[in-house]
Order: sequence, then C-alpha cells, then structure tokens
Amino acid sequence: MTHQHLEVRDKFTGEVIGSVPLADRDAVDRAVTAAKDAFPAWSHTPAHRRSDVLFRAADMLEARRDEIATTIAREAGKAWKYAVAEAERGVETFRFSAEEAKRIHGETVPMDASAAGEGRWGFWVRVPVGVVAAITPFNFPLNLVAHKVGPALAAGNSVVLKPASTTPLTAALLCDVLRQCGLPPGVLELVVGPGSTVGDWLVTDRRVAKVSFTGSPSVGESIVRAAGLKKVTMELGNNSGTIVEPDADLTAAIPRCVMSAFANSGQVCISLQRLYVHASIFEDFTRRFVAATAALKVGNPMERDCDVGPMISQSEVARVVAWIAEAEQDGARVLAGGRSDGSMLQPTVLCDVAASMNVMCQEVFAPVVCLVSYDDFDAALAALDDSEYGLQAGVWTNDLRKAFRAIERLDCGGVMVNDTSIFRVDHMPYGGNRRSGLGREGVRFAVEEMTNIKMVVIRA
Ligand code: NAP
Repeated sequence: MTHQHLEVRDKFTGEVIGSVPLADRDAVDRAVTAAKDAFPAWSHTPAHRRSDVLFRAADMLEARRDEIATTIAREAGKAWKYAVAEAERGVETFRFSAEEAKRIHGETVPMDASAAGEGRWGFWVRVPVGVVAAITPFNFPLNLVAHKVGPALAAGNSVVLKPASTTPLTAALLCDVLRQCGLPPGVLELVVGPGSTVGDWLVTDRRVAKVSFTGSPSVGESIVRAAGLKKVTMELGNNSGTIVEPDADLTAAIPRCVMSAFANSGQVCISLQRLYVHASIFEDFTRRFVAATAALKVGNPMERDCDVGPMISQSEVARVVAWIAEAEQDGARVLAGGRSDGSMLQPTVLCDVAASMNVMCQEVFAPVVCLVSYDDFDAALAALDDSEYGLQAGVWTNDLRKAFRAIERLDCGGVMVNDTSIFRVDHMPYGGNRRSGLGREGVRFAVEEMTNIKMVVIRA
C-alpha cells in the first residue's frame, strides 16, 4: 500500500487545499493490472450502456459545476470565469463522448475490385486498443482529462490516468464522479506522482497499448522514445500567431486578441503569443490594445471579475521574467506589464521584438504577447509560419482571397479566420504538426486514435 501523500496548494494563497496518495511502483503496477483485468468486460459492454455511464457523468459534472470550478480555480490558479467555462466544457466533452460511443463503426470493402477478392465479402470494424495511459498537463485539469477519458471509455478501453502533479484534485473528483455513475472498478485508475517516475513507469509498461499525452514538446519527445511500439497521441505546445489585416473589424479583434493573450495567464497551448498587425493600423491598434490590457483585473482568481490570476509556479514566472529581460537587452520595449510579484506576472505587451528572441521563437506559456508590425500580407504569413510549431493560427481579414491564401499557406492543425489561434470547441479535430504533436483529439478523432481497425473477409 502507498503511505505517502502529495499536498496540493491554492496557487494564489499558497494554502494547502487537499492531498492525494502518491503512487509508488507497486501502485502503478496494480493500477495497470486492474485496468487490464477490467478491459474485457468493459470492451464487451454494449455501446448504449457505455454511453449511459458517460451521459450520467456529464449530468453529475453539470450539477457539481461550481464545486469543480472552485477546485480548478484554486489548484490551477485559473480566474473564476475561465474555471467555470472549463467546467462547462468538460460537461460538453462528456456529452460528445456519450454520443460518439454509439456511432463507432467501420465500412464494407468492395472485395471484387481486385480479381483476387472475387467471391469474398469484406468489412472492417473499429476495436478498442486495450489499456490507455492518459498523461495530462496542469492548465486544463478537467477538460484535457475529459478529452482522453471520455473518448477512451466511449470506445471500450480502460484507462490509467496520470494528471499533472500540481493539479490532481480535479482529476480525482472526475474519477469519483465516474465511479458514482456506474463505471465498473478498474476501468479508470488514477495514479498521482512525478512524471519522471510514475509517468515513465506507465509509458514503459508493456501492458499499456496506447499513450495519450498532452504537455510540453520536450516531455512528449522523451515519451515517444520511451514508449517503443505503442500507439501514441501527442498534444504539445505552440508559439501561436495571429495576423490582423487593415480591413478587419478592430472593435471585435482587439478585445478578442487581449483575451487570447491573457486568459489563464497565457498558459493555454493556443494562447496568442505573436500578434502581427498591418503597419497602416499598427499605432492605433497598439494604443487600444495596451489600454485594454491595462484595464484587466489581475489578482485573486476566486474573485468573480478576475481576468488574470497567478501562473502555476514562481519558477515559471522567473523563467519568463528572464526571457523578457533578455528581449529588452536586445532592443524590445515593454508597453505594458513586465513586473512580477511571487507567482503573479502582470499582463505584458512587448514590441520591437526579433524573431530570434525566446519570447518569439519558444513557447512563452505566460501572459506575454509580442506585437509585430508588417507591410506585406504574404511576408506576415511566412513569418507566422516560420516556427518549429504548428498547432493553430488566426487571421483577421474580410478579404476572402487573403483568407484562402492563409488557409493554404499555413502548416498547422487549424486556421481560424476572423478569430485568433485560441478558438476551440471540443468536437472539432484538434492537434498540431511538427513540434506541436502527433495525431488529433476532439472526441471523434480521439476515438479513432484509441481504436484499431480490424478487417474481416468472408469467403462466400
Ligand atoms: P509537462 O511538464 O510536459 O507535463 C505534462 C504531464 O507529463 C504531467 O502530468 C507531467 O507530470 C508528465 N510528465 C513529465 N515528465 C514525464 C515523463 N518523463 N514521462 C511521463 N510523463 C511525464 O507540461 P505542463 O507544464 O503540465 O503543461 C504545459 C505544456 O502543455 C505546454 O507546452 C502546453 O503547450 C502543453 N499543452 C498542450 C495542449 C494541446 O492540446 N496541444 C493543451 C494543453 C497544454 P508532473 O506534473 O508530475 O511533472
């Protein structure tokens, strides 16, 4: 049995708000064994029953919305309004999963298209892979867990879930909800502990059929190496960019860009980090953008009108403050923010940046946005695309030809027209290219990643 516990703190007050058992190697082994043992019965549970469990879980999450939002706001430091929005999205992700459970199907194959197939009937079906290891980050402690657990259970897999060590309480609450909604024992196991041990034991366990990971590119890369011959889905980072053309509706674009840069203290994989604004509107845009940034309410995330809470840790603040200082040394100017206090970093706007600065070319994952003036739309597209990452991008324009140039030109998982990189709803395909990842989530697409195709040929 495990005896050690992990204390979880409120990221704004520092107060201990809960604790969870820390898994040791035996506990991880027991969790995988339980998931493996539970798999045959769950995978043979009729789809409508799996769907019922997921619908009930969605209803219970909805009924407990405020309790869940409070847990998210405190353990992740997420401003209340965004914590509520996440709790509501989690409900929707479970409803999508419940619906998807009923429509997992294959196709017939016209076998006689080949002479060798004459006289045969063929069809393929999707079958669950087995035990899925779900490893999740701190920034959406409910919805990014829901994006793995919901589709995995819908498809008939069992799951061992390892949430981020900074935010395990929401995941524990979700597991409790699913148990209460009739999920059989063993089908969803929770293990909490450091990624370097608990995460690694899971990834390297040969009984795990699939690793579904959301987190940083460097950890993702090490997991792909360690996992060996397993299916993997990698949802990784981005230094997301958005372009604003002079024909855009600035009244809509400016507040949306401010929100996209600073919601959840910029700790969103599709947070707006590089904002390219046409030179003819740059001055006006910048003045209005900086004024809107200065008006944000920064502080205690539990206050109902808070816009920006703390970052996840003081060490993360220190990393970003160093990046801002480096950028300033190399000629960047701070137009707003830049100051920090403990784990709070003021929403920060930079200009006069260069593409080679860390705040531009690395994922900043903090409330920091860089404003860049451009003259030529195609050059702006090229600059935006000149990145190791390729998750999502935004383009504000009412010129259809320019919108399509962007759609064709940008090598990324999603292009948002008249919006920023941050737009996402939970049933659309979502994921990145290059260092942003492998595979796609979004319930139906996650189900595809968590199933194998089985071909059946019948000789008549
Ligand atoms: P992280 O440090 O990579 O951690 C993510 C998860 O991986 C945590 O549960 C962590 O455990 C675990 N882990 C760490 N090392 C591991 C290892 N060697 N083997 C197995 N697991 C390991 O990421 P984070 O700081 O929590 O999240 C921020 C990153 O996530 C950003 O890069 C962001 O862009 C990305 N993200 C991507 C998406 C997307 O959908 N594309 C969505 C959200 C976030 P511990 O907590 O114990 O370290």
